[in-house]
Amino acid sequence: MKIYNTLSRTKEEFKPIEDGVVSMYVCGPTVYNYIHIGNARPMIVFDTVRRYLEYKGFIVNYVSNFTDVDDKIIKKANEEGTTSDVISKRYIEECKKDMEGLNVLPATVHPLATEEIPEMVEMINTLMKKDFAYRAEDGTVYFRTRKFEDYGKLSHKNLDDLEAGHRDIDVTGDGKEDYLDFVLWKPKKEGEPYWESPWSEGRPGWHIECSVMSKKYLGENIDIHAGGEDLIFPHHENEIAQSESANGVAFANYWMHNGFLNIDNRKMSKSLGNFFTVRDISEKYDLQVLRFFMLSAHYRNPLNFSDVLMESAKAGLERITNAYDNLMYLFENATNDVTSDEEAKEAINSYVKKFEDAMEDDFNTADAISTIFEFVRHINQDVNEDTGANVLKLYIEKLSMLCGILGIIVEKEEKLLDEEIERMIDERQKARKNKDFKKADEIRDELLRKGIQLLDTREGVKYKWL
Ligand code: AMP
Ligand code: ZN
Repeated sequence: MKIYNTLSRTKEEFKPIEDGVVSMYVCGPTVYNYIHIGNARPMIVFDTVRRYLEYKGFIVNYVSNFTDVDDKIIKKANEEGTTSDVISKRYIEECKKDMEGLNVLPATVHPLATEEIPEMVEMINTLMKKDFAYRAEDGTVYFRTRKFEDYGKLSHKNLDDLEAGHRDIDVTGDGKEDYLDFVLWKPKKEGEPYWESPWSEGRPGWHIECSVMSKKYLGENIDIHAGGEDLIFPHHENEIAQSESANGVAFANYWMHNGFLNIDNRKMSKSLGNFFTVRDISEKYDLQVLRFFMLSAHYRNPLNFSDVLMESAKAGLERITNAYDNLMYLFENATNDVTSDEEAKEAINSYVKKFEDAMEDDFNTADAISTIFEFVRHINQDVNEDTGANVLKLYIEKLSMLCGILGIIVEKEEKLLDEEIERMIDERQKARKNKDFKKADEIRDELLRKGIQLLDTREGVKYKWL
């Protein structure tokens, strides 16, 4: 499997640090409002990377933070006459709802910056001791950028370029030794939330938050660190400088960055009036359509959002779900239990292989989706009323599996049907209790024909859609 690594600017063969396990950190949103559709892109893209890795059999430890202390959060709190805590908690909950709609799996851990402050103070202390950091008179602590020799290795900038563009650098206070130095800790201003530290009452800089949360939950050396391409510099460059200086080992082995989402070929911005939250989009579309749209492009390319493209994504997704519904209908009404499955198996092997090849090539979801379309075309041509239930079941399983790797749900959610299933499960349990195994088996088979598999677990009987 090949991953494009921003560090080397090449596609590299993926080799995890520990066999069978992947540690992955994805920079999460700053929570001061509903997330916008640009924020949704890394969530969807890296959730898909995770799903593919899990499909390959890896255990993925996936950490994604919420930045819950920040100037924008404080500003919003002041506007509403409330605290940052109220604002961030509110928008974390709203973000989680959007993630659910987008079918983004919850991370293994979603750390909050404000809950990890002691560890941040500790890392800054280590940097102070190693002379990589210093305190200015006003209580700000800065990182001594020039002391870290590899500075610029991720963004491929050299210090001279940076010198020329030094105005872009976030200058939050005076007393820097060098304009390249960046903030690790900043003293509080009137009315701001703050924490105690050896240097001042204040709060951490943004970059140190991710260095610390990544170390705490995944270790000093991790497999993949990811985020949008705007984070390459300075955020990720600074994370590398902090982590490698403090820990003395390489930070992340693979750095992945998604391209930007634009609207009607322009940068999305509130002032241009072309700014959409995920919630806005959910009023017009099922969020599955947004997910499908995002995955129709390669994650590293810029992606343009427009009504026309969303309509086309919607139509594309419907082509797949219609094929799936048709399969289910034929399966439920199949008159033949078994017909030859050789051709189906051969087709499945070749499409699954093609899908995997696309994903193995730096997660080319655009090609993976094209392969699903080809598979759907094949299925539509191959099946009819005479097709055996065995063949239909194979197609149903594999189509659902491939879509599932992309986080696309093809199964219909039918609440009423759920109750019906529960009723049949109860009936089967009663039959088993009465040792009427024939009846119990009949009910199980009937459910199976409807595409529902029963699972006898310790917590009782569960079921899943095939
Ligand atoms: P932020 O809350 O601005 O730190 O952003 C959270 C995540 O969304 C980061 O990984 C950003 O790189 C990413 N992001 C922000 N805007 C866009 C956009 N327009 N297109 C793609 N990714 C974005
Ligand atoms: Zn980060």
